[in-house]
Amino acid sequence: MSKSSAVFAINTKDMRPIYVTQPHLPPLDEFVPYLEKIWNSRVLTNGGPFHQRFEKALGEYLGVDHVALFSNGTLALVTALQALRITGEVITTPYSFVATAHSLLWNGIKPVFVDIDPRTFNLDPGQVEAAITPQTTAIMPVHCYGNPCDVEAMQRIADNYNLKLIYDSAHAFGVRDAGGSILRHGDLSVLSFHATKVFNTFEGGAIVCPDAKTKQRIDHLKNFGFIDEVTVVAPGINGKMSELNAAFGILQLDYIDQALERRKEIASMYREMLASVKGIRCAEGARDSVANYSYFPILVEDAYPLKRDELYYELRECNVYARRYFYPLISDFPMYRGLPSSQPDRLPVAHDIASRILCLPIYPGLDADQIYRIVDIIEGASR
Ligand SMILES: *Cc1c(COP(=O)(O)O)cnc(C)c1O
Repeated sequence: MSKSSAVFAINTKDMRPIYVTQPHLPPLDEFVPYLEKIWNSRVLTNGGPFHQRFEKALGEYLGVDHVALFSNGTLALVTALQALRITGEVITTPYSFVATAHSLLWNGIKPVFVDIDPRTFNLDPGQVEAAITPQTTAIMPVHCYGNPCDVEAMQRIADNYNLKLIYDSAHAFGVRDAGGSILRHGDLSVLSFHATKVFNTFEGGAIVCPDAKTKQRIDHLKNFGFIDEVTVVAPGINGKMSELNAAFGILQLDYIDQALERRKEIASMYREMLASVKGIRCAEGARDSVANYSYFPILVEDAYPLKRDELYYELRECNVYARRYFYPLISDFPMYRGLPSSQPDRLPVAHDIASRILCLPIYPGLDADQIYRIVDIIEGASR
C-alpha cells in the first residue's frame, strides 16, 4: 500500500473543503499597531507614509529600483499601457487570466493572440514574429504560473521591430533568474497582490519600472494626472493604493520567505507522490530560476482513465476545489472570439493544454494530511 493510501485510511472522515488557494494572513495582533498609526495620523491614502515605506521595502525585497504601487493589478496593467502610449495592436497570450487582454480593450487596443510553448505554457517567441503587422506596437507576455518567459528572445524581437515589451507578471512575485529579479525585464512589469496571489495586500498591484522618470509619469497617471494642486497633465485614473493595504503589505513582507519555503515543500511532495500515477504529468518548472510555486499545474494525459473534467468533478465530490486555470482560453470569451487570431486552428497548443490542465491546491497552510487526501483521490480514480 502506498504511503498516501495508508494515511487516507486514517483520515476518511476529514472532508473539510480544500480550495485551490487560501490567502496568507499574519497574526491579527501584529497588524493592530499599524492600524493605530493610521487612526492617529488620519492619513488614509494619497501616497502617505505607509505607501512610501512599502514602495521602498518592496523594491528592496524584489531587487528592483523603481516600483509604483496600485490598488490592483488590472489598473496597473491599464496604466502601464497608457504610460507607454501603446495603441494599435498588441501581441499577447490566450493562456492567461482574462485581465491580461481586458487591459488592452480598456485602452482601445486590439489584442492579437499567439500560441504558447507546450513546455512552459508561455507565449511562443517563435510565433510572435509572424504575428507582427505595421499596427503592432507592443508585446504583452505573461510569466504563466510564475515560470519565466523566454525573456531574451522576447527582447530580441522587441528590439528588432521597435516594439515595447510589457510583462504581465501577476504570477511572478519573487521569481528570479540567474541575473536577478525576473521583473527587471521588458519596458515595464506588472504585479498583482490580489488575495489569491502568492503575496497579497487584500487587493493591490504594482508596476516595476526601469527609471525614475517613467515612475513619475506612472505616479501622475494613477492620481488623475495631477502634478500639483492646480495642474493636471494627463487624463489619469485613480489607481492609488490606500494606507491600509500598504501597511498590510509591509507586515506581509515579514512572512513571505517562509510562505515561499512552505510552497516549495508542498510542490515537491506532490511531485514525488504523483510521479507514479500513470497519465498525470506535473508541469515542469523553469530551469536556472528561483520559482515561487504559486500554482501546482498538472496535465491529465490520455493514459489516465478519466478525462480532465471527470477528475475535476471527482475532486469536487470529495470537497477538493482544484481549478482549471486557464480554461476557457481568453480567446474563447465572447468579446474576443470574433478576432482572426482567436480562431482555434491558430492556437492548437493553447487549446490542447487548456483541455488537460488542472491546478491543484497549494498554499502555505495546506498540511500533509490534506496533500495525501488530494493525491489519494487522484490515485484512487486511476485504479
Ligand atoms: C490576478 C491576475 C491579474 C489581475 O490582477 P488583479 O490584482 O486581480 O486585478 C492580471 N493578470 C494575471 C495573469 C492574473 O493572474
